[in-house]
Amino acid sequence: MESVNTKEIVKKYGFKFTKSLGQNFLIDSTVLTDIVKGADISKEDFVIEIGPGVGTLTKQLLDSAKAVCAIELDSDLLPILEEELKEYDNFTLVHKDALKVDFNEIINYENSVKLVANLPYYVTTPIISKLLISGYVFKSLTIMIQKEVAERIAAKPNCKEYGALSLLVQYYCDTEIIRKVSPASFIPQPKVESIVIKLDRLIEPRVKVKDEKLFFTIVRDSFNMRRKTLWNALKQLKLSKENLEYAFSESGIDPKRRGETLSIEEFGKLADVVYGIVNK
Ligand code: SAM
Repeated sequence: MESVNTKEIVKKYGFKFTKSLGQNFLIDSTVLTDIVKGADISKEDFVIEIGPGVGTLTKQLLDSAKAVCAIELDSDLLPILEEELKEYDNFTLVHKDALKVDFNEIINYENSVKLVANLPYYVTTPIISKLLISGYVFKSLTIMIQKEVAERIAAKPNCKEYGALSLLVQYYCDTEIIRKVSPASFIPQPKVESIVIKLDRLIEPRVKVKDEKLFFTIVRDSFNMRRKTLWNALKQLKLSKENLEYAFSESGIDPKRRGETLSIEEFGKLADVVYGIVNK
């Protein structure tokens, strides 16, 4: 492992880690390089980084991108970042909770926006959901997350990792695993393995559905009761028995199947038939 000077910066400023903020800082320079390379950052790109820590990844991003805006919640890190990154005039810092940020206020008129982050693990899923569902104009999200969550995101039907999160992400994005990262690449070391994954936003969602909200309700209901058949899981839709029978026969889906066997296209078909029934 080739190390970066994270430990020295932490020591120099006497920074104290806050576990509840998911603070595991990268010390492995090969990971930093692979993230920036994997994210495909060029001087055309405006990069938003969530959780810059002491700025080790930020520095590499600043060298490759047109500009970087970093969002950090921990006020103790602000003076460190301002000092460590003072020679960069393409850097801005926002002191906020990333879950509460309106990214449109940061994006302004930029037309090539990429998000890069070694995410605090306690907010992984809510952040990904927010970034995808809110329709921000990100070209891609290159994020380091727990290995187990990355596997759920990239999962295909008929495996135990496949679920509502796989469908949410794959509805909006292509996914590409960039690399694995071991706990030894961080201080302090997390308990779990990590993965850098790139989510490339599709121009149009992967399936065209009549009602996105209904599509995601059906997906959620199908996985809420994972071990149940679709017939039992989708009773939650409160359709009459005849209508539910019609929904399955019309979409060509066997009601004895389980949600984890359905492709995104099949969920789309089922959702559109149900839409037709409820809007008759
Ligand atoms: N980017 C640095 C690195 O790779 O070494 C630090 C990554 S560390 C896993 C996560 C960072 O996110 C920390 O700096 C933490 O303070 C910050 N953070 C935690 N919760 C946050 C939130 N809700 N909004 C913005 N930043 C947050």
